[in-house]
Amino acid sequence: MKITRWLLLFFIINLCQNCVRGNVSEEDTEMKVGKNKVGKEELSYEERIEILKESIEELVKVANRDTRFHGQLPNAPRKYRNGFHEGIDFYDGFCGVKIEEGTPVLSIADGKVIRVDKQYVEISIEKRDELLAEAYNCGYTPDSTLDILRGMQVWIDHRNGIVTRYCHLSKINPGLKGEVKKGEIIGFVGGSGTKSKTPHLHFEIRIGEDFLGKGKSTDENLKLLEEIFNK
Ligand SMILES: [Zn+2]
Repeated sequence: MKITRWLLLFFIINLCQNCVRGNVSEEDTEMKVGKNKVGKEELSYEERIEILKESIEELVKVANRDTRFHGQLPNAPRKYRNGFHEGIDFYDGFCGVKIEEGTPVLSIADGKVIRVDKQYVEISIEKRDELLAEAYNCGYTPDSTLDILRGMQVWIDHRNGIVTRYCHLSKINPGLKGEVKKGEIIGFVGGSGTKSKTPHLHFEIRIGEDFLGKGKSTDENLKLLEEIFNK
């Protein structure tokens, strides 16, 4: 399905950047392009849009010049999770905004909240390892396990078969329900559902039954992200 530029208007996460935790070491400071614009709630909508655009530009630049970044893109290989990553990971250190525990996460577009994990309970590390081992051994990751791995989540339905998912949150905006506006704070960055607890946003764009970027090569996904976010 062709994704048009209007998605850019939607993509408003007040953070971003990206990074490559797990794939890039702490010593790779030369790759760090963050400008330390901490995403505060008092930023205006226009400022958030600008930050987002800068962040995505940096993300694509980093990914284009260092293949270690590619692990954070959609369709990147994963040992578990049916073999591929379904979203984009935004970590601190490689984009235009500082990302830390509690950085606000905003809805990228108007839409309807269809899932909000206000009663979220973190799974134990032991149980998590057990589920992962199960998935690894059988070569298939059940949806219930995938769901646990995403931690505390918010899902927003933007209609036309497009749903966005915001995962690994540390907290959800207590008043969140029903219809939301683009730019509305829906939650805060965290590390729920992850083993390391390194704060980051796992962000998915779902198109129908699939995730954006499914089946595409790294180059194709980079081009797609460029088209969506950099134009
Ligand atoms: Zn992820």
